[in-house]
Amino acid sequence: MDTLIRIEMLTLLLALLAWPPRFPGVADAQPAPDRYQAARERMVAEQIASRDVADPRVLAAMRKVPRHQFVPPEERESAYDDRPLPIGHGQTISQPYIVALMTQLAKPKPTDRALEIGTGSGYQAAVLSALVAEVFTIEIEEPLANDARRRLAALGYTNVVSRVGDGYGGWPEHAPFDLILVTAAPDHVPPALVAQLKPGGLLVIPVGEVYAVQELVVIQKDASGRTHTEHIIPVRFVPLRRKDG
Ligand code: SAH
Repeated sequence: MDTLIRIEMLTLLLALLAWPPRFPGVADAQPAPDRYQAARERMVAEQIASRDVADPRVLAAMRKVPRHQFVPPEERESAYDDRPLPIGHGQTISQPYIVALMTQLAKPKPTDRALEIGTGSGYQAAVLSALVAEVFTIEIEEPLANDARRRLAALGYTNVVSRVGDGYGGWPEHAPFDLILVTAAPDHVPPALVAQLKPGGLLVIPVGEVYAVQELVVIQKDASGRTHTEHIIPVRFVPLRRKDG
């Protein structure tokens, strides 16, 4: 009898430990540990923290977001490799280090409102989502935008708002933004993006010739509205396309 009661109590304890129950498919911004957790830890240690990304919030977000969910099934085993990967429609998901570096350069704060140009897979938006209050993201390629919207919703990133369109003009209805990340390269800085930055805001953008090496730059708008540009590193991004171009 005694043993039975003990077993029942143990069962109850185990049930309580497992509370709240997880229902597959239900939105959850903090996914349960998955079989890729170790790969993610290694990715952060070997590719990101070992280089020059030290912001603990950014490192935590990179450890948490399930990158393998953002790549096509045939690329899943390569999801945590130190390189960009194809996501269809001639586009790519950026190398993990570049995502982490751009995120750190934008100095995200929990109260921030962020804009991303070039949703692609939605991975960068998911990383930002863990670090700011609201993320607005624009994708010019409709099928990619639709897939990303579905994926972000299914994974529980409820603070991401997306739309299809040309991000060259930013998103005036939701401006101004504390930070703007551009993940496709234009040959000049779009003036609307600078205009939609708050004073003190940061714009992180690759700029340069199409299909050449571009420069990753950070543009800060100061309290008086003047901008200061800092050149970071050479990068290679897909081109920012124009709707009528
Ligand atoms: N941030 C993405 C990777 C982006 S690849 C991720 O995390 O997966 C760059 C994306 O920018 C592509 O999907 C491309 O279709 C998109 N793009 C190109 N020109 C654009 C424009 N003018 N406005 C919005 N998106 C654009």
